[in-house]
Amino acid sequence: MTRKPLVAGNWKMNMTVADARHLVSEMIPGLGSKAGVDKVICPPHTALLAVSSLLEGSDIHLGAQNMYWETSGAYTGEISPNMVAEFCEYIILGHSERRAYFGETDKDVNRKVQAAFTHGLTPIVCVGETLEEYEGDRTYDVVFRQVKMGLEGIEFEGGDGTNLVIAYEPIWCIGTGHAATPEDANKVIADVIRPALVELFGENMAYKIRVLYGGSVNGENAKEFFMQPDIDGALAGGASLKVTDYIQITLAAIN
Ligand code: PEP
Repeated sequence: MTRKPLVAGNWKMNMTVADARHLVSEMIPGLGSKAGVDKVICPPHTALLAVSSLLEGSDIHLGAQNMYWETSGAYTGEISPNMVAEFCEYIILGHSERRAYFGETDKDVNRKVQAAFTHGLTPIVCVGETLEEYEGDRTYDVVFRQVKMGLEGIEFEGGDGTNLVIAYEPIWCIGTGHAATPEDANKVIADVIRPALVELFGENMAYKIRVLYGGSVNGENAKEFFMQPDIDGALAGGASLKVTDYIQITLAAIN
């Protein structure tokens, strides 16, 4: 089964509108019209409008970093799936920073994934273990639970599996400059994530779902990850704010 690689950039809480415009304008010439890889940029909500107009006419997709599952109502400070869908095709859900700092649970992630499908968004669902869990040999249990609970009972609403993306992000690798080894990351995906997806959705659908690696990916190390058979691309944080690095990562995903 060949899955089209995908490279997504999570800008996190960085970039004013002016900064975002500047960064995207510098990225478009290097990123645009590169066939063979899906490219997704995920700025903060405040910059979505500006970035979406800059991306018009390019094949670079837009994503948001979080949303609530309800469509409207008294949820001060939240943003709804239909609001995100006005600008975006993708939505990052369950990032470890949301789980750690904002108390997001697997159940919350599950509701958000369902809401994403209902509104035609492609979720990028993040899973991964803490350093303590890694050192305590609990990676497999934790990641299996996150995938199963985050996705159980989900209706794809007509999608065939290509409209769901998982990002395996060991938390101890995020923003640390210390990436997992490509072999270890591949093993978690092959031994835990793909089997969990097969249990949930059956072989046919499960093998269409792309699984990315995230955690200190940069222009130098990206290719080694992409050479692994079960790694279908990357979710990059810090490197997605650096024009040269981000373009290098994206190009590395094209065979
Ligand atoms: C992330 O935030 O999803 C991430 C992978 O960050 P970084 O690339 O900076 O480790």
